[in-house]
Amino acid sequence: MAQLNIYLNRLEHNLNFLKSISPDKNSLIGVVKANAYGHGIIEISKKLVSMGVSRLSVASVSEGKLLRENDINCNIIVYYPDPFELNDIINYSLEPAIYSKRILKKLIKLLDKSKRDFSVHLKFNTGLNRLGFKFEDIEWVIKKIDKARLRVLSVYSHLSASEDKKNNLNTKKQLKIFNEIKSKFYDLNSEIKYHLLNSSGIFNYPEHQYDWVRSGISLYGYSNNSDWDKNLLPVAELKTKIIQIHNVKKGESVGYNNGWIAKKKSKIAIIPIGHADGIGRYFKNRNVTVKINQLKAPIIGNICMDIFMIDVSHIQCKEWDEVVIFDQKNPANIFAESAGTISYEILSSLGNRIKRVYIS
Ligand SMILES: *Cc1c(COP(=O)(O)O)cnc(C)c1O
Repeated sequence: MAQLNIYLNRLEHNLNFLKSISPDKNSLIGVVKANAYGHGIIEISKKLVSMGVSRLSVASVSEGKLLRENDINCNIIVYYPDPFELNDIINYSLEPAIYSKRILKKLIKLLDKSKRDFSVHLKFNTGLNRLGFKFEDIEWVIKKIDKARLRVLSVYSHLSASEDKKNNLNTKKQLKIFNEIKSKFYDLNSEIKYHLLNSSGIFNYPEHQYDWVRSGISLYGYSNNSDWDKNLLPVAELKTKIIQIHNVKKGESVGYNNGWIAKKKSKIAIIPIGHADGIGRYFKNRNVTVKINQLKAPIIGNICMDIFMIDVSHIQCKEWDEVVIFDQKNPANIFAESAGTISYEILSSLGNRIKRVYIS
Protein backbone atom coordinates (compact mmCIF):
# COMPACT_ATOMS: atom_id res chain seq x y z
CA MET A 1 0.00 0.00 0.00
CA ALA A 2 2.99 2.28 0.39
CA GLN A 3 3.62 4.40 -2.65
CA LEU A 4 6.60 6.45 -3.73
CA ASN A 5 5.46 9.33 -5.90
CA ILE A 6 8.29 10.48 -8.13
CA TYR A 7 7.98 13.93 -9.64
CA LEU A 8 10.02 13.95 -12.83
CA ASN A 9 9.60 17.70 -13.29
CA ARG A 10 11.53 18.17 -10.04
CA LEU A 11 14.29 15.92 -11.36
CA GLU A 12 14.39 18.19 -14.38
CA HIS A 13 14.57 21.26 -12.14
CA ASN A 14 17.47 19.78 -10.17
CA LEU A 15 19.32 18.76 -13.31
CA ASN A 16 18.94 22.22 -14.79
CA PHE A 17 20.19 23.83 -11.60
CA LEU A 18 23.18 21.49 -11.43
CA LYS A 19 24.01 22.12 -15.07
CA SER A 20 23.89 25.85 -14.42
CA ILE A 21 26.69 25.54 -11.85
CA SER A 22 28.74 22.86 -13.66
CA PRO A 23 31.70 23.40 -16.02
CA ASP A 24 29.55 22.90 -19.13
CA LYS A 25 26.30 21.26 -20.10
CA ASN A 26 27.91 17.95 -21.00
CA SER A 27 30.03 17.64 -17.91
CA LEU A 28 27.48 16.08 -15.60
CA ILE A 29 27.59 12.34 -14.91
CA GLY A 30 24.18 11.19 -13.68
CA VAL A 31 24.62 8.74 -10.82
CA VAL A 32 21.83 6.13 -10.94
CA LYS A 33 23.32 3.36 -8.80
CA ALA A 34 21.24 1.71 -6.07
CA ASN A 35 18.08 1.81 -8.16
CA ALA A 36 18.64 5.53 -8.75
CA TYR A 37 18.80 6.08 -4.97
CA GLY A 38 15.52 4.17 -4.70
CA HIS A 39 13.73 6.21 -7.37
CA GLY A 40 13.73 3.47 -10.04
CA ILE A 41 16.83 3.07 -12.18
CA ILE A 42 15.10 2.55 -15.55
CA GLU A 43 12.64 5.43 -15.43
CA ILE A 44 15.15 7.86 -13.94
CA SER A 45 17.85 6.88 -16.43
CA LYS A 46 15.48 7.28 -19.37
CA LYS A 47 14.42 10.68 -18.11
CA LEU A 48 18.02 11.83 -17.60
CA VAL A 49 19.03 10.64 -21.07
CA SER A 50 16.00 12.38 -22.59
CA MET A 51 17.15 15.59 -20.89
CA GLY A 52 20.55 15.32 -22.52
CA VAL A 53 22.68 13.54 -19.92
CA SER A 54 25.16 11.58 -21.98
CA ARG A 55 26.88 9.52 -19.30
CA LEU A 56 25.31 7.62 -16.41
CA SER A 57 27.07 5.72 -13.67
CA VAL A 58 26.22 2.70 -11.58
CA ALA A 59 27.98 0.75 -8.85
CA SER A 60 27.72 -2.81 -10.13
CA VAL A 61 27.87 -4.71 -13.38
CA SER A 62 24.35 -6.03 -12.77
CA GLU A 63 23.00 -2.47 -12.69
CA GLY A 64 24.77 -1.69 -15.96
CA LYS A 65 23.37 -4.84 -17.56
CA LEU A 66 19.88 -3.90 -16.45
CA LEU A 67 20.23 -0.52 -18.15
CA ARG A 68 21.42 -2.11 -21.39
CA GLU A 69 18.62 -4.67 -21.29
CA ASN A 70 16.20 -1.77 -21.10
CA ASP A 71 17.62 -0.07 -24.19
CA ILE A 72 19.58 2.62 -22.42
CA ASN A 73 22.41 3.17 -24.83
CA CYS A 74 24.37 6.10 -23.40
CA ASN A 75 27.82 5.77 -21.85
CA ILE A 76 27.67 3.92 -18.54
CA ILE A 77 30.47 3.93 -15.98
CA VAL A 78 30.57 1.03 -13.52
CA TYR A 79 32.29 2.36 -10.40
CA TYR A 80 32.87 -0.89 -8.52
CA PRO A 81 33.04 -3.73 -11.04
CA ASP A 82 33.42 -7.20 -9.63
CA PRO A 83 36.61 -8.63 -11.19
CA PHE A 84 34.69 -11.82 -11.91
CA GLU A 85 32.08 -9.98 -13.96
CA LEU A 86 34.43 -8.30 -16.41
CA ASN A 87 33.14 -10.41 -19.28
CA ASP A 88 29.78 -8.72 -18.93
CA ILE A 89 31.49 -5.33 -18.86
CA ILE A 90 32.85 -6.17 -22.30
CA ASN A 91 29.71 -7.85 -23.65
CA TYR A 92 27.41 -5.03 -22.60
CA SER A 93 29.78 -2.21 -23.61
CA LEU A 94 30.03 -0.79 -20.13
CA GLU A 95 32.89 1.47 -19.02
CA PRO A 96 34.67 0.02 -15.99
CA ALA A 97 36.38 2.06 -13.35
CA ILE A 98 39.72 0.36 -12.94
CA TYR A 99 40.94 0.70 -9.38
CA SER A 100 43.66 -1.89 -8.79
CA LYS A 101 46.54 -3.66 -10.48
CA ARG A 102 44.76 -6.97 -10.21
CA ILE A 103 41.62 -5.83 -11.95
CA LEU A 104 43.61 -4.06 -14.66
CA LYS A 105 45.63 -7.19 -15.36
CA LYS A 106 42.48 -9.29 -15.42
CA LEU A 107 40.76 -6.96 -17.89
CA ILE A 108 43.77 -6.87 -20.19
CA LYS A 109 43.93 -10.66 -20.20
CA LEU A 110 40.29 -10.90 -21.23
CA LEU A 111 40.66 -8.22 -23.88
CA ASP A 112 43.77 -9.75 -25.39
CA LYS A 113 41.61 -12.28 -27.12
CA SER A 114 39.01 -9.85 -28.38
CA LYS A 115 39.11 -6.08 -28.52
CA ARG A 116 41.65 -3.33 -28.49
CA ASP A 117 41.01 0.31 -27.79
CA PHE A 118 38.65 -0.59 -24.96
CA SER A 119 37.45 2.40 -22.93
CA VAL A 120 38.14 2.59 -19.21
CA HIS A 121 38.20 5.09 -16.36
CA LEU A 122 41.03 5.07 -13.83
CA LYS A 123 40.28 5.54 -10.17
CA PHE A 124 42.97 6.92 -7.87
CA ASN A 125 42.98 6.91 -4.09
CA THR A 126 44.14 10.34 -2.95
CA GLY A 127 43.18 10.08 0.70
CA LEU A 128 39.73 8.60 1.19
CA ASN A 129 41.48 5.25 1.47
CA ARG A 130 38.67 3.39 -0.14
CA LEU A 131 39.22 2.11 -3.68
CA GLY A 132 41.86 3.25 -6.11
CA PHE A 133 45.40 3.08 -7.39
CA LYS A 134 48.07 4.74 -5.32
CA PHE A 135 50.02 7.70 -6.67
CA GLU A 136 53.07 5.45 -6.78
CA ASP A 137 51.29 3.10 -9.18
CA ILE A 138 51.12 5.68 -11.98
CA GLU A 139 54.14 4.60 -13.98
CA TRP A 140 53.09 0.96 -13.79
CA VAL A 141 49.53 1.83 -14.84
CA ILE A 142 50.64 4.00 -17.74
CA LYS A 143 52.93 1.27 -19.07
CA LYS A 144 50.20 -1.34 -18.83
CA ILE A 145 47.49 0.67 -20.54
CA ASP A 146 49.90 1.78 -23.23
CA LYS A 147 50.92 -1.75 -24.04
CA ALA A 148 47.33 -3.03 -24.04
CA ARG A 149 46.22 0.02 -26.02
CA LEU A 150 43.39 0.78 -23.63
CA ARG A 151 41.60 4.05 -24.10
CA VAL A 152 41.54 6.07 -20.89
CA LEU A 153 38.43 8.24 -20.95
CA SER A 154 38.91 9.73 -17.54
CA VAL A 155 41.03 9.75 -14.42
CA TYR A 156 39.25 10.45 -11.18
CA SER A 157 39.30 10.40 -7.42
CA HIS A 158 36.86 11.01 -4.58
CA LEU A 159 37.08 13.52 -1.74
CA SER A 160 36.77 12.21 1.78
CA ALA A 161 35.11 15.33 3.18
CA SER A 162 33.40 17.18 0.36
CA GLU A 163 30.56 18.09 2.75
CA ASP A 164 32.98 19.96 4.91
CA LYS A 165 34.09 23.32 3.63
CA LYS A 166 35.94 24.47 6.71
CA ASN A 167 38.06 21.61 7.89
CA ASN A 168 39.63 21.02 4.53
CA LEU A 169 43.20 20.13 5.35
CA ASN A 170 42.75 16.64 3.99
CA THR A 171 40.89 18.04 0.99
CA LYS A 172 43.84 20.29 0.18
CA LYS A 173 46.14 17.30 0.37
CA GLN A 174 43.85 15.30 -1.92
CA LEU A 175 43.67 18.17 -4.41
CA LYS A 176 47.43 18.44 -4.51
CA ILE A 177 47.87 14.73 -5.18
CA PHE A 178 45.11 14.76 -7.78
CA ASN A 179 46.75 17.65 -9.62
CA GLU A 180 50.02 15.75 -9.68
CA ILE A 181 48.23 12.70 -11.06
CA LYS A 182 46.60 14.89 -13.67
CA SER A 183 49.88 16.36 -14.86
CA LYS A 184 51.35 12.88 -15.33
CA PHE A 185 48.42 11.75 -17.46
CA TYR A 186 48.14 15.03 -19.29
CA ASP A 187 51.58 14.46 -20.80
CA LEU A 188 50.43 11.08 -22.00
CA ASN A 189 47.15 12.11 -23.59
CA SER A 190 45.55 15.52 -23.45
CA GLU A 191 42.09 14.14 -24.29
CA ILE A 192 41.64 12.48 -20.90
CA LYS A 193 38.97 14.02 -18.66
CA TYR A 194 39.38 14.56 -14.91
CA HIS A 195 36.81 14.54 -12.14
CA LEU A 196 36.77 14.67 -8.39
CA LEU A 197 33.47 16.00 -7.11
CA ASN A 198 30.25 14.37 -5.95
CA SER A 199 27.15 16.43 -5.11
CA SER A 200 28.54 18.14 -2.00
CA GLY A 201 31.77 18.84 -3.81
CA ILE A 202 29.90 20.55 -6.65
CA PHE A 203 28.45 22.99 -4.14
CA ASN A 204 31.38 23.41 -1.79
CA TYR A 205 34.34 23.29 -4.18
CA PRO A 206 33.13 24.90 -7.43
CA GLU A 207 36.70 25.97 -8.17
CA HIS A 208 37.78 22.33 -8.40
CA GLN A 209 35.28 20.93 -10.86
CA TYR A 210 37.82 19.87 -13.50
CA ASP A 211 36.08 18.45 -16.62
CA TRP A 212 33.24 16.40 -15.22
CA VAL A 213 31.21 16.20 -12.00
CA ARG A 214 29.40 13.19 -10.54
CA SER A 215 25.96 14.09 -9.38
CA GLY A 216 23.97 11.61 -7.31
CA ILE A 217 21.95 12.74 -4.30
CA SER A 218 21.59 16.30 -5.63
CA LEU A 219 19.66 15.07 -8.67
CA TYR A 220 17.15 13.61 -6.25
CA GLY A 221 16.86 16.89 -4.36
CA TYR A 222 19.35 16.81 -1.49
CA SER A 223 22.62 18.64 -1.07
CA ASN A 224 23.70 17.75 2.49
CA ASN A 225 23.54 21.47 3.22
CA SER A 226 20.41 23.40 4.14
CA ASP A 227 21.46 26.48 2.16
CA TRP A 228 22.02 24.60 -1.05
CA ASP A 229 18.87 22.55 -0.45
CA LYS A 230 16.90 25.70 -1.25
CA ASN A 231 17.91 25.36 -4.90
CA LEU A 232 16.80 21.75 -5.16
CA LEU A 233 13.45 19.98 -5.00
CA PRO A 234 13.04 16.61 -3.29
CA VAL A 235 11.92 14.34 -6.13
CA ALA A 236 10.18 11.58 -4.18
CA GLU A 237 7.35 11.51 -1.66
CA LEU A 238 6.61 8.39 0.37
CA LYS A 239 3.03 7.92 1.41
CA THR A 240 0.86 5.15 2.76
CA LYS A 241 -2.42 4.72 4.65
CA ILE A 242 -3.53 3.80 8.14
CA ILE A 243 -4.83 0.23 7.91
CA GLN A 244 -6.17 -0.10 11.44
CA ILE A 245 -6.69 1.95 14.59
CA HIS A 246 -6.68 0.56 18.15
CA ASN A 247 -7.43 2.08 21.49
CA VAL A 248 -5.09 0.80 24.20
CA LYS A 249 -5.36 1.15 27.96
CA LYS A 250 -2.72 2.62 30.22
CA GLY A 251 -0.02 -0.01 30.81
CA GLU A 252 -0.70 -2.02 27.66
CA SER A 253 2.28 -2.73 25.43
CA VAL A 254 2.53 -2.23 21.69
CA GLY A 255 4.59 -4.28 19.28
CA TYR A 256 7.24 -6.99 19.61
CA ASN A 257 9.16 -7.29 22.86
CA ASN A 258 6.90 -4.76 24.56
CA GLY A 259 8.66 -2.06 22.59
CA TRP A 260 6.30 0.65 23.81
CA ILE A 261 4.09 0.83 26.91
CA ALA A 262 1.13 3.20 27.01
CA LYS A 263 1.65 5.74 29.79
CA LYS A 264 -2.01 6.65 29.46
CA LYS A 265 -5.03 5.57 27.51
CA SER A 266 -3.91 5.95 23.88
CA LYS A 267 -5.00 5.65 20.31
CA ILE A 268 -2.54 3.95 17.99
CA ALA A 269 -2.53 3.53 14.22
CA ILE A 270 -1.08 0.66 12.22
CA ILE A 271 0.99 1.60 9.18
CA PRO A 272 1.77 -0.98 6.48
CA ILE A 273 5.46 -0.40 5.86
CA GLY A 274 8.33 -1.98 7.77
CA HIS A 275 11.98 -2.86 7.87
CA ALA A 276 11.66 -5.04 4.78
CA ASP A 277 10.67 -1.87 2.92
CA GLY A 278 13.62 0.14 4.19
CA ILE A 279 12.28 1.57 7.42
CA GLY A 280 15.06 0.15 9.61
CA ARG A 281 14.65 -0.89 13.22
CA TYR A 282 16.44 2.30 14.26
CA PHE A 283 13.39 4.34 13.27
CA LYS A 284 12.03 3.27 16.63
CA ASN A 285 12.54 6.46 18.52
CA ARG A 286 10.22 9.03 20.08
CA ASN A 287 11.75 11.68 17.85
CA VAL A 288 10.79 10.06 14.59
CA THR A 289 7.47 11.27 13.32
CA VAL A 290 5.28 10.85 10.28
CA LYS A 291 2.37 13.12 9.35
CA ILE A 292 -1.36 12.54 9.33
CA ASN A 293 -3.70 15.35 8.40
CA GLN A 294 -0.72 17.74 8.70
CA LEU A 295 -0.03 16.68 12.30
CA LYS A 296 3.03 14.88 13.59
CA ALA A 297 2.58 11.35 14.92
CA PRO A 298 5.55 9.59 16.59
CA ILE A 299 6.57 6.06 15.67
CA ILE A 300 6.19 3.79 18.70
CA GLY A 301 7.43 0.30 19.54
CA ASN A 302 9.70 -1.81 17.39
CA ILE A 303 9.43 -1.56 13.63
CA CYS A 304 8.19 -4.91 12.32
CA MET A 305 9.06 -6.44 8.98
CA ASP A 306 5.94 -5.12 7.23
CA ILE A 307 4.35 -2.75 9.73
CA PHE A 308 5.05 -0.01 12.22
CA MET A 309 2.82 1.66 14.79
CA ILE A 310 2.30 5.32 15.58
CA ASP A 311 0.70 7.20 18.42
CA VAL A 312 -2.27 9.18 17.14
CA SER A 313 -3.91 9.93 20.49
CA HIS A 314 -3.85 13.64 19.69
CA ILE A 315 -5.00 13.38 16.07
CA GLN A 316 -8.46 13.15 14.55
CA CYS A 317 -8.05 10.34 12.07
CA LYS A 318 -9.62 7.20 10.73
CA GLU A 319 -8.66 4.05 8.91
CA TRP A 320 -7.49 4.66 5.30
CA ASP A 321 -6.35 8.18 6.11
CA GLU A 322 -3.14 9.13 4.34
CA VAL A 323 0.19 8.91 6.17
CA VAL A 324 3.07 11.01 4.89
CA ILE A 325 6.43 9.47 5.66
CA PHE A 326 8.28 12.13 3.72
CA ASP A 327 7.34 14.70 1.10
CA GLN A 328 8.52 18.05 -0.13
CA LYS A 329 7.64 19.85 3.12
CA ASN A 330 8.94 17.02 5.32
CA PRO A 331 11.94 15.92 3.31
CA ALA A 332 13.56 12.50 3.51
CA ASN A 333 16.80 13.86 4.95
CA ILE A 334 14.97 15.24 8.00
CA PHE A 335 13.08 11.98 8.48
CA ALA A 336 16.37 10.07 8.16
CA GLU A 337 18.31 12.35 10.48
CA SER A 338 15.68 12.05 13.20
CA ALA A 339 16.61 8.36 13.38
CA GLY A 340 20.35 8.94 13.17
CA THR A 341 20.81 8.12 9.51
CA ILE A 342 21.07 10.07 6.24
CA SER A 343 19.01 10.70 3.12
CA TYR A 344 21.21 8.34 1.09
CA GLU A 345 20.39 5.40 3.33
CA ILE A 346 16.65 5.85 3.62
CA LEU A 347 16.23 6.47 -0.12
CA SER A 348 18.45 3.68 -1.36
CA SER A 349 16.90 1.20 1.08
CA LEU A 350 13.34 1.69 -0.14
CA GLY A 351 12.27 -1.83 -1.05
CA ASN A 352 10.72 -3.06 -4.25
CA ARG A 353 7.34 -3.72 -2.61
CA ILE A 354 6.82 0.03 -2.57
CA LYS A 355 4.95 1.02 -5.67
CA ARG A 356 6.72 3.70 -7.73
CA VAL A 357 4.41 6.14 -9.47
CA TYR A 358 5.93 8.60 -11.93
CA ILE A 359 4.39 12.01 -12.32
CA SER A 360 5.64 14.20 -15.13
C1 LIG B 1 27.83 7.32 -5.44
C2 LIG B 1 28.98 8.04 -5.99
C3 LIG B 1 28.87 9.41 -6.32
C4 LIG B 1 27.64 10.23 -6.04
O1 LIG B 1 27.72 10.84 -4.78
P1 LIG B 1 26.60 11.88 -4.32
O2 LIG B 1 27.08 12.34 -2.99
O3 LIG B 1 25.33 11.10 -4.22
O4 LIG B 1 26.52 12.92 -5.34
C5 LIG B 1 29.97 10.02 -6.91
N1 LIG B 1 31.11 9.33 -7.15
C6 LIG B 1 31.24 8.02 -6.84
C7 LIG B 1 32.52 7.34 -7.16
C8 LIG B 1 30.19 7.33 -6.25
O5 LIG B 1 30.33 6.04 -5.94
